[in-house]
Order: sequence, then structure tokens, then C-alpha cells
Amino acid sequence: MAKTKYVFITGGVLSGLGKGIVTASTGLLIKSMGYSVTAIKIDPYVNVDAGTMNPFMHGEVFVTEDGGETDLDLGHYERFLGINLSKENNITTGQVYLSVITKERKGEYLGKCVQIIPHITDEIKNRIRRIARNNEADVVLVEIGGTVGDIESLPFLEAIRQMRIEEGRNNTVSIHVALAPILSVTGEQKTKPVQHSIQELRRIGIMPDIVVVRSQRDLEPEARQKIALYSNLPVDAVFGDPDVDTIYEVPLLLHSKGYTRCIARLLDLEYKEPDISKWEEFVNRVKNTGKKVRIAMIGKYTKLHDSYISIIEALRHSGAWNNVGIELKWYESTEIERGRIKPEKIVEETDAAIILPGFGKRGAEGKIQAIKTLRENNKPVLGICFGMQLMVIEIFRNVIGWEKANSTELDPNTPYPVVDLLPSQYNVKHLGGSMRLGAHPIKIVRDTIAYKMYNKGLIYERHRHRYEVNPKYLDKLESAGVRVSGWSMEGYPEFIEMKQYKTIFFGSQPHPEFKSRPLEPSPVYTYFVKIIKR
Ligand code: GLN
Repeated sequence: MAKTKYVFITGGVLSGLGKGIVTASTGLLIKSMGYSVTAIKIDPYVNVDAGTMNPFMHGEVFVTEDGGETDLDLGHYERFLGINLSKENNITTGQVYLSVITKERKGEYLGKCVQIIPHITDEIKNRIRRIARNNEADVVLVEIGGTVGDIESLPFLEAIRQMRIEEGRNNTVSIHVALAPILSVTGEQKTKPVQHSIQELRRIGIMPDIVVVRSQRDLEPEARQKIALYSNLPVDAVFGDPDVDTIYEVPLLLHSKGYTRCIARLLDLEYKEPDISKWEEFVNRVKNTGKKVRIAMIGKYTKLHDSYISIIEALRHSGAWNNVGIELKWYESTEIERGRIKPEKIVEETDAAIILPGFGKRGAEGKIQAIKTLRENNKPVLGICFGMQLMVIEIFRNVIGWEKANSTELDPNTPYPVVDLLPSQYNVKHLGGSMRLGAHPIKIVRDTIAYKMYNKGLIYERHRHRYEVNPKYLDKLESAGVRVSGWSMEGYPEFIEMKQYKTIFFGSQPHPEFKSRPLEPSPVYTYFVKIIKR
């Protein structure tokens, strides 16, 4: 096998620039030339994984097939590259220090003073190279989270500096993504922040080979010249990356500017015209401005849409597949609870609703109120994870008449624990990485909506939960017209659906959104959008 090539992506000026999208787009273009690709996200925070972080701070916790609770950028990589990644593909400071300290305690560094250079940096390099080996990838993309100049990212940048020498110049490329702001008063595109972040990167010892400049509009020729001059680069290595309608357009835009050829040249890879026709077709469908469906997104982290990014993307994929535009309308469940948003308003303003996943008491009653009104009005309802659990509680309270029915997550003393802790969770003490996580098989019952969705008897979806619909009360649920249409191997209800319902009332314990891809949309979301469109 030829030597593995590495693409390192750093960011400057601000976080949240869309570095993950640039990384994913670069990967897609290299893969479309016919090379095998994998991608790594480095998060310089001290948490071991994203699982214990509030989505409000950091956006969605993405779940991998092997049960990793990772940064949401892994979701972008999977969607653009069309591959499954492992939890190993998300490296954090916490993981690196944890293994170095564990080794130190075992005596593996006996006699030595353990230091950031070389011990921490070696651990970082080993992890990156191990992923390259395990995946037998031609090209490995490594994105460093945060912004150049952050104290926490220094050991990672140092590791990359070393790797560029060890792997050889023709085998690595360094891409720097930075922002050129536009002054609202004069409308001028300013390059100084980009110049400064490149200087900072150079101070650390990394010379970028390519600079990608994010801006509201495309990079002006003078600005491009200026950035090239200050970064010591030819003009054709500086690429404008303006705001676009959909993130899926970014690879097409970069490719049209000669980006793929530039990367191939720098990595000494044979250039092959990338096959992106299916992707182009998908982008045209996403941009479809014809008929639109309005979907209510009901949750408690609605102020940061990134908290639900995989659901949003799954809906975009499904809309494209169904040839219909998706308009999302956000409703904060705590506001419903306080009476500031009337559930009737949601019924009036939208064609369907998604009851979003979540944890804990805040906003839960608001979601239950919304489900009741939506159900009474025959609106299409899709509940994901916590959303499904709340749909079940609503049925028990308002159809069966058990007013105090609840989840033990919300009321540990409820007389009717219709949603209860999974038996496998009884003895769990630590909260990190201990939920029921990752892909598990699900048996689909024939002649159900779930079967119509998947058209298969056995499927795999990804999970992230501690509670389940209590199997003890399933007969009662059945008597109210709700059946279980998907089962786990251990006998946990995985999908529930209302049998007699004018549109669709469907709950999913797993998160099918994590596996939805532009060219292979999630069966659950695709079917749901198809019903709304009717
Ligand atoms: N809080 C619920 C549970 O732990 C649902 C979790 C979720 O929506 N991801 O089971």
C-alpha cells in the first residue's frame, strides 16, 4: 500500500466558521477522485467525550455506530463521506491525558520525567496513525477544533508540526480556514484577521499550504492577493468560501475553483476528475423552491439549532428525496409549559411536528401538552427517543385516563411508571459513557408502519438512552390503539405507532437521524415527510 497522506485543518479568527464543513467537503472531493478517506476531529477540551456536555454549549452529541458520544462534526463527516466512523475518530485532551497518566501509574515511563513534549505529543501522533492504519485509508483528514492561539490546542498543533516533518512534505497538507469580516458601515471586506491568524500559525511552526477564507460574500481579487502575499502563498492557493444556501454546496463551490486539483498536487496524488454528479443532483433537489412543508420542532434547546443538527439534516435529505422543501418552525417547550405558546398555535402554523429528544424535567410537560393537541387534530407526529417516551405518557394520561402516568426520570414516585429505567441501567453509577449507546439490532413487526418504512425484518439504528417504555403496561397501551412495531433483542420496545390515525403518529426509541445521508436518507424521516406531503 502507498504511504498514507494527511490533511490537517486548522481554524482562525473565530470558532463556528464551518471548518467541519470544509473538512467534510475536502474529504468528499478526495474520495470522489477514487481514494479511500477517513476523518478525525480533535477537540482540545479536557472532557473525555462530548457525552457529559450540555448541547446548549456545544451542539448535538453525535452517536457513532460503536457507541461513541462525539462532537457533531463527526456527523458532518459521515454524511459527506458516506462512511461510518468510530469513536476513536474523535480525539480529546481528556483521552490523551487519561492514557498517558494511566501509563505513568503503571510504570511504563519508569525513570522518566513525563512531559507534554514528547509524551503527550507522541500519544496524539500514535492515535492519529493508529486510525490511519486501522482504516487502511489513502488519506486521513485531521481537523483541530477551536482557534489557533488557544492555549488548549497547542500540544495538538505541535504534534502536527512534527508529523509534517516525519511524514514528509509531499504526504501532508495544511489547510487554514479563517474569516474575512465585512464591515457593515462601509461594506469593505477586511483581511487583517486572516493575516494575524496565519502569523500565529507560523509562530507555532506550521506554514499553511492552502488558506480557505470564509466570508459573507466571495473573496474579492484584491483581498485574495493581499492574503496570498501575507501568507507567503501563491494566489491560487487562497480560496474564497462565501455563505451559501446549503452546506452541501460547499464541495461543489470549492471544486469549481480548482481546489481538488490543488490538493491533489500538494499531496502528490494522481488527479482524477471527481465523480460528483449524484451529489450535484442532490444539491439541486435541496434547493428546490417548489412546494414546502412546515415542520414544528418542539424541544428545549431550540435557541441553538445545532443541538438537533442531525435531525435537521435528516429532514433535508428526506425533503430532497420527496421533492419537497422543508421549512422548520421552532417551539420552545418551556414556553408551552408557561402558557406563552398555545399548542393550538402549533397546529395552525405547521403541517407536522417532531417531538425532539432530551433529558430531564424542564419543558417535558410542555411537550406532553403539545402532543395532546397535535394528536387530537390528527397532525403527523414523530417522537424521537425522549419524544417517543412522552408520546406514550400522553396516551396513558389522556386516552387511558391514568392522570399520574409518568417516566421515573421525571417523577421517581409516580404510581404509573409507564416509562422506566432500563434493567441494564440499574447499577450504573458513573454518568460518562454509560447509557445504552450505539447501534443495536431491531426486529420489525410485519404489516406495520415501521415495516413500510424499512421494508425489512431486521435493521440497526443508533441509541442513546437510559429509559424505556415499560413492557409491563404494553397490553394497556395496545388497548388504546398503540402497538409496538419494533423490538430490541432484549425485548425493549423500539418503535411505537398508533394503528387508527388519519396521518401518522410514530415514536422511535433510537435516533434514525444519525444514519441519514444525502444519498441514502433515513427510512423513518423519508416516510414521515412523504406522509406530510400528501
Ligand atoms: N432521557 C431519555 C432517556 O434517557 C431520552 C434520551 C434521549 O432523548 N436521547 O431514556
